[in-house]
Amino acid sequence: MMSHIAPPTEPRNPFVMAQQQFDLAADLLELPNSIRRRLRVPRRELKVAVPVRMDDGEVMVYEGYRVQHSLARGPAKGGIRYHPDVDIDTVRALAMWMSWKCALVNIPFGGSKGGVAVDPRGLSLGELERLTRRYAAEISIIIGPESDIPAPDMNTNAQTMAWMMDTLSIHRGHTVRAAVTGKPLHIGGSEGRVEATARGLIYVLHESLKLLELSPPATRVAIQGFGNVGGNAARMLHNDGLPIVAVSDMYGGLYHPRGLDIAAVQVHVQRTGSVIGYREAEPISNAELLELPCEVLIPAALGNQITSENAHRIHARILAEGANGPTTPEADAILQEQGTFVIPDVLGNAGGVIVSYFEWVQGLQEYFWSEQEVNTNLERIIVKAFHDVMRVVAEQQHYARTAAYLLAVRRVADAAETRGVYP
Ligand code: GLU
Repeated sequence: MMSHIAPPTEPRNPFVMAQQQFDLAADLLELPNSIRRRLRVPRRELKVAVPVRMDDGEVMVYEGYRVQHSLARGPAKGGIRYHPDVDIDTVRALAMWMSWKCALVNIPFGGSKGGVAVDPRGLSLGELERLTRRYAAEISIIIGPESDIPAPDMNTNAQTMAWMMDTLSIHRGHTVRAAVTGKPLHIGGSEGRVEATARGLIYVLHESLKLLELSPPATRVAIQGFGNVGGNAARMLHNDGLPIVAVSDMYGGLYHPRGLDIAAVQVHVQRTGSVIGYREAEPISNAELLELPCEVLIPAALGNQITSENAHRIHARILAEGANGPTTPEADAILQEQGTFVIPDVLGNAGGVIVSYFEWVQGLQEYFWSEQEVNTNLERIIVKAFHDVMRVVAEQQHYARTAAYLLAVRRVADAAETRGVYP
């Protein structure tokens, strides 16, 4: 991946970054210190050691976390990430961002996140299942449909969620469907959940194109990341007639100034496991991808990609954040200055948790919706949130991330304030 020498002033700790973003909103909202102190830190943090019997008989121990940032608006909600970079501060930041995301799109959840510090590529399927089941058992003391509901995130998927749901259910003695979202369809998952994050991003992107009067065929798109968000977004936008000029994965990227044949790239990825080596394009690095000439840039991989070092070289008119935390506060200042139209992560990637909400509701009611119903409701909720943010941008001249935070933090603060401090 990209490597940078960070200037000393720029925080690369995601939690420091998340707190900076919160402080900015709290200042503008003139939040009283009593509320500010509560929302600045996570409500609960659980750190677990996860022993796993490996295929060769050795027992390895991995570090796992589940952090609940806020429960003021409802049960905590957030994904589970498997990645070597997972640490307590990353999970704290991701949990806080979930609180703002759920509040911004106005679904009745607080925010949480979990993760295990592991590179899942080094594990067999059996090892991955044992890791997931033990991690699920360890965090089960704070998980449940009324308390905290996990979902997929980076390097976890519907199978991971099936193992988690099954493990929690075995411990409780009966199936607890609504304790986990992002499950496979035939065990209580929701239609449209897999594509939901990409689909949500595309709904708000199309609204942005209308606002900026950009026509789809003239809108070149560069996408960093080719996983659940980046890969699905590439396919859907390609089908909508936008030229996808670049895509990448953790190994590197591809560039074609007139647009890639996404179906062909997908076939190549299925065959080789990476976009690398696809012949009908120029190979580029992940760092180069961000700076390409294009109208739309979609970071859909790791955080901390757009920094004070490269922000001024971002040519895209629209930055549509599929990843969580791809842009540092220092980069935000530069993007604001140069007038980049930013769709912030808490809005851009909220489609996933919106359909998770639908899955939770369907699981509790044991009554399941059609894909059409899911997508129509997703569009309604995310497009409303987009226009709510745009209204604050227009009326108060704020940067879009700040506008989104003002709406979201206000809602969480109101809930926390009204509920009061116990005892
Ligand atoms: N991991 C996704 C996110 O960051 C989805 C979370 C969820 O559905 O609970 O928003």
